[in-house]
Amino acid sequence: MEGQGPVNPEPQAFPASFAGGSGAKAGQFFAVGRCRFITSLCISQTPVLLTEPRPKRILKEELLAEVYVAVDVETTGLDTSRDELIEVGLCRIANGAVTERFSSLVRPAGAVPLRVKKLTGITDAMLEAAPTWEEIAGAVASFIGDAPVIGHNVAFDAGFLSRYLGKPLPGILLDTCELARTLLPQARGYSLALAAEALGVPYAVQHRALADAEATAVLFDALLARLGELSPQVLSGAAFLLDRGNSSLAGLFKEALRRATKFPGRISSPEAFVEAKPKEPEEAGNERVNPEAVTCTELFGPGGRLTSVLPGYEYRAQQEEMAAAVTGALENGSYLLVEAGTGIGKSLAYLIPLVQKALKSGKRVLISTHTVNLQEQLLQKDIPSVKAALGLDFNAVLVKGRQHYLCLRRWQRQLEEAQHPDGLNAGEAAARFYARVLIWLAATVAGDFGELSLNEPEREAQARIAAAAEGCFGKNCPLSTHCFVNNARRRAEKALVLITNHSLLLTDAFAGGAVLPDYGPLVIDEAHHLEDVATECLTRSHTRREAVNWLSRLRPILARAGPALYQLPNGAAVDKKINTLIEAARNAAAELFSFFNNLLAGAPNSGVNGGLPARRLKEKGSHLVLDTPGRSVYLGLVAEFETLLGTCQGIAEAGGWTETWAREFALWIQEGHEIRGTLTGIIENTDPDRVEWIEGRFWAGELHAVLKCAPVSVAEAVFTSVFSRHHAAVLTSATLTVGGRFDHFMNRVGLHRVPAERLTCQVMGSPFAYEERSSLCVVSDLPLPQEVAAEEYLQSVADALSRLALAAGGRVLVLFTANRMMREVAMRVRPRLETEDVVVLAQGVDGGRTRLLEEFRHTERAALCGTASFWEGVDISGGLLRMVVIVKLPFPPFETPVLAARRVRLLNQGHDDFQTLSLPYAVLRFKQGFGRLIRSHQDEGVVVVLDRRLVNKSYGPTFIKSLPPLPVISLPLTDACAWLRSRLGDLA
Ligand code: SF4
Repeated sequence: MEGQGPVNPEPQAFPASFAGGSGAKAGQFFAVGRCRFITSLCISQTPVLLTEPRPKRILKEELLAEVYVAVDVETTGLDTSRDELIEVGLCRIANGAVTERFSSLVRPAGAVPLRVKKLTGITDAMLEAAPTWEEIAGAVASFIGDAPVIGHNVAFDAGFLSRYLGKPLPGILLDTCELARTLLPQARGYSLALAAEALGVPYAVQHRALADAEATAVLFDALLARLGELSPQVLSGAAFLLDRGNSSLAGLFKEALRRATKFPGRISSPEAFVEAKPKEPEEAGNERVNPEAVTCTELFGPGGRLTSVLPGYEYRAQQEEMAAAVTGALENGSYLLVEAGTGIGKSLAYLIPLVQKALKSGKRVLISTHTVNLQEQLLQKDIPSVKAALGLDFNAVLVKGRQHYLCLRRWQRQLEEAQHPDGLNAGEAAARFYARVLIWLAATVAGDFGELSLNEPEREAQARIAAAAEGCFGKNCPLSTHCFVNNARRRAEKALVLITNHSLLLTDAFAGGAVLPDYGPLVIDEAHHLEDVATECLTRSHTRREAVNWLSRLRPILARAGPALYQLPNGAAVDKKINTLIEAARNAAAELFSFFNNLLAGAPNSGVNGGLPARRLKEKGSHLVLDTPGRSVYLGLVAEFETLLGTCQGIAEAGGWTETWAREFALWIQEGHEIRGTLTGIIENTDPDRVEWIEGRFWAGELHAVLKCAPVSVAEAVFTSVFSRHHAAVLTSATLTVGGRFDHFMNRVGLHRVPAERLTCQVMGSPFAYEERSSLCVVSDLPLPQEVAAEEYLQSVADALSRLALAAGGRVLVLFTANRMMREVAMRVRPRLETEDVVVLAQGVDGGRTRLLEEFRHTERAALCGTASFWEGVDISGGLLRMVVIVKLPFPPFETPVLAARRVRLLNQGHDDFQTLSLPYAVLRFKQGFGRLIRSHQDEGVVVVLDRRLVNKSYGPTFIKSLPPLPVISLPLTDACAWLRSRLGDLA
């Protein structure tokens, strides 16, 4: 390892720039200066001193011929500066085997949270008998010594140990989580359990320190074996990028490269990784097939074909009815709007008639959904069922937007930039991510980023190498034959059924059909998201980072673009001027966005924006930029952009560029004009149909201003681009109606413009027995927020929630409308509920949505508190949920600029904004929250509402009428708790 000298010195077999930590002297060996898969501008053909490659097994054994210490700690929480250690597990590994173990509980000074006790099985009694840290500190320090330390998320373990030892751990730290992320780019996840699963390493999750330390050691062993399987090409590139990314793994990769094999001595280009892989099997095209004429009853009816091909298929009259309605709409070329209650099986009800229609006509069809989960369900579960039911095969593909695929040309540019002496503009996190991408690229067939699970810093780096319509060289691209986007498009063109998301459906529609292959009939599932997605598609935004990233690309382009700049008569002066102009534009952007950040201070938090601030640009008749000192700052930035762009245009027109670089430079200039256009378009917007604002976003822990401009209404755009262009379409969702009427949804997405004779609306009730298996209880004696002080309201909700959760005996989902309130209430109920053995899980406090849902499913007594993302798409079926609590009726957060503008527009048009916007919005959201309770025939429970307006106000019945028929009662809190005990007693 680094710092310990090479175990088996060999000729240097990687670029000299790698030599840093390996002890090799620069110039000691013949080396290739740069290898071409990093740059197509290969600058050296220097001979390589070759040695015979070493067998991979030897590589692994040699790397393991070192002493390491694997560590794991159990703690009272995740805060390394405040929480306490409760267990330490260490094991020493030498020559690939565990030679010594150390394990001890540690008596903490404070209490251990119930969640930790349940997770680890460590009890208070065990800790009372445990030694204090002072009693074991010496043994821990001497066990670790100065050996390299391995851990899974090692910074966490090392953070605690360093704090307790009072000094940093002296040895290098190797993170098996980061190593797994890099070496297993397509794994499902990188927890210890998932990384072990990906490599077939046996691991029974224990959450005990010694067991986890040993599992980490075994995982490390398996990862080293995987490292040994990488080709020298990939190893050398990854080592280089990890070095640029200042990763502690760089030394490991360098060592692996040095010992594993000779340097190949040949150069390869980015597409070499694509060429080396097996190609996807060519899909046959679709022919027109005359499917056997079968009726809906023959397929869906009792004893029908679905019963014989789908194990466990249950007949549902509503499903058959919906399939008949879809068939009718497709045959007549009309529109069908269906609210399909939970459990109908709506996807098969539209898929089978749609596929039959496509097979008969030979015309491609399209299904659009909002969530990836539904797309995967359609492709992996429902489409195979349709094939089995119809006894026919056909092509169905998932179509994604360009940005989901890696653009080989942009990737090439980033790798070139990484070699520039100034390094990668994208930063160290991007360099580490690119090492991962390099390894992934050798394995992926589709080049689809969906195969990688990305974290936030990686997402930003991903955007730099993702394909984009702007900047694509199209047919002129030298990499077009290998292009992942082109391959995906070819697959889509051969398919009979396209599955996509609303965003791509609408992007294509707004672009006049330029993105997707032609298609005929259309199904829009999860249609209630259509308005929001259309708004997002038509929103323009601008951030300082966009400007800075764009500016940072100029120097690398000029530096690599050949002698063009220096052929100018005054080349040296222009070169100097460019530096000044870049700096001036950067400073002006910084000044303008610092002005925006100040405007955001004190702005109201937007409830739907994760509680982040947002502010309209025009407030109380005054423009926050143009009518203030911000105007000169803004005009300064525009002027700097124009000067820079004008100068660059002159350089471009002077000629002397290679064709590729001339195109690259022209794209850069065009992008600059677009950035400037977006900035001025937002700030100087005078279109009354658009709303412009600044909102805050957190990146890397800091609040950044984002400028945005969106249409107030999308109805006209959606009607013109989507509904007026298609003869037949089916729109469906479980939540479309308010009080049994579709008007609100139709008006929001432009369906009201479709002639009445061409549109049918139907409500298909759920087959679940809501009347017997569920009840709605409204707590009638709690204050409303406007009636009492904030503190009193919070406390009353917390008290009520504690009592209700105890009465229900856990298995409770609590839905809030605001983040801050959710956190406050969760903090208050936690101590009380935990003394009664009920674990409290709060979104964003105890983890993200997926992790909390998993924990909730496995915890017998738990209360899960969540906001926006928990109101829909959460499926806790199989009797794992007994009670859903809705804290407040979900009226729209009017601090959100678009909603506020919609309300103002309605008022200006003389409409009742409450009836036409607030109430429908709240009812649909309420229905979604209510829908979390019953997800299968086995589910049973109650929904409790802590907002008495549901029974006191005149609009209450609209909410209740929008639910399936079920018993509704209203009780004071004490009676509600007693009623819950008797109602849910049998389920506990
Ligand atoms: S064709 Fe376009 S998307 Fe594909 S590699 Fe070339 S530039 Fe990238």
